[in-house]
Amino acid sequence: MKVLVTGGLGYIGSHTCVQLIAAGYTPVVLDNLHNSKLGVVSHLKKILDQDVQYYVGDIRDRQLLQSIFAEHDIKAVIHFAGLKAVGESVEKPLEYYENNVYGTLALVQEMKAAGIKSIIFSSSATVYGDPEEIPIRETTATGATTNPYGRSKYMVEECLKDLHIADPDWSITLLRYFNPVGSHPSGLLGEDPQGIPNNLMPFIAQVAVGRREQLAVFGNDYPTKDGTGVRDYIHVMDLADGHIAALQHVSDKAGVHIYNLGTGTGTSVLEMVAAFSDACGHPIKYQICERRPGDIAECWADPSKAKADLKWQAQYGIAEMTADTWRWQSNYPNGFSD
Ligand code: NAD
Ligand code: UDP
Repeated sequence: MKVLVTGGLGYIGSHTCVQLIAAGYTPVVLDNLHNSKLGVVSHLKKILDQDVQYYVGDIRDRQLLQSIFAEHDIKAVIHFAGLKAVGESVEKPLEYYENNVYGTLALVQEMKAAGIKSIIFSSSATVYGDPEEIPIRETTATGATTNPYGRSKYMVEECLKDLHIADPDWSITLLRYFNPVGSHPSGLLGEDPQGIPNNLMPFIAQVAVGRREQLAVFGNDYPTKDGTGVRDYIHVMDLADGHIAALQHVSDKAGVHIYNLGTGTGTSVLEMVAAFSDACGHPIKYQICERRPGDIAECWADPSKAKADLKWQAQYGIAEMTADTWRWQSNYPNGFSD
């Protein structure tokens, strides 16, 4: 069964391609290389011992979508492509709405024209804003988002729900990821952020490997276990498997299927620093700084709905997440090549 994977050369998409092939699916990748490098392709080949078919192009290019759908018998689309930096989205809201919202509409319109009515969309815990309850359930209120990136995810969710109301044959799966971290255990694939990392784990990894001097810990006066922010970190291999589970259990069923993909466990910034020090064998230098504007104190998922319906639950803990990230970062301190 062929699956179109938009953004398939990116961080989560590339790991999902590995797991798709392992599960017997054939991914067809579409990526415009905005935030990824072609070097990913040769790393995938080393892991898989086979080529992954890919197109370098944009989800907003309708002619390209038409030709891909004409050439391949695609049964479902896993839609990762999009822009994801919260701070940048505040500076460049139009680019975010254009890429994330309009891009998804173009994709879905061409899917409709080609008679493909199954999409798995990369949503985010950010749609819950500052959550009204913890652990967060799928029924927890969404929409009180705090930045254009989060709003673009919320808008796409709403557009896809309306599409299902208009045509109930569609299978719409909204996967709300918590904090994806970690790397393929081979050390051949991982996250390769361009410029200064926005997120905690890649920043710690670059400090560990000597690319950055120290971590700025954004606040230690939150009402959490040690005062630092608490998040639900999920291993990217577990996340990838969540997509396979969604393909197997709901992508051929009409409806709107919404799942939190998290572990259900909260980890603080300082706990993550300590775990990474264990993984790399030396201390991670850090300094306590001001809170980062817009950050929430803590959040973690109630992942029980995914367990019940998709027969999926996270297998890996913080020790594997940090060890696998360190393997990737120390093998490839400068990430993928062009
Ligand atoms: P990523 O940037 O590594 O991957 C996204 C890929 O999409 C990149 O390879 C990029 O080149 C490509 N792309 C961007 N715009 C495109 C376009 N218009 N046409 C074709 N390709 C395009 O990001 P990721 O971490 O792998 O995230 C994948 C998805 O998951 C994104 O939609 C993101 O918003 C969502 N998500 C990520 C996180 C996270 O923390 N990583 C959390 C929640 C949700
Ligand atoms: N964080 C930090 N220093 C950094 C990056 C992040 O202290 O350089 C903290 C941040 O305040 C939050 C946690 O690490 O409490 C996770 O942040 P990240 O940006 O990775 O994820 P998000 O805030 O989007 O959940």
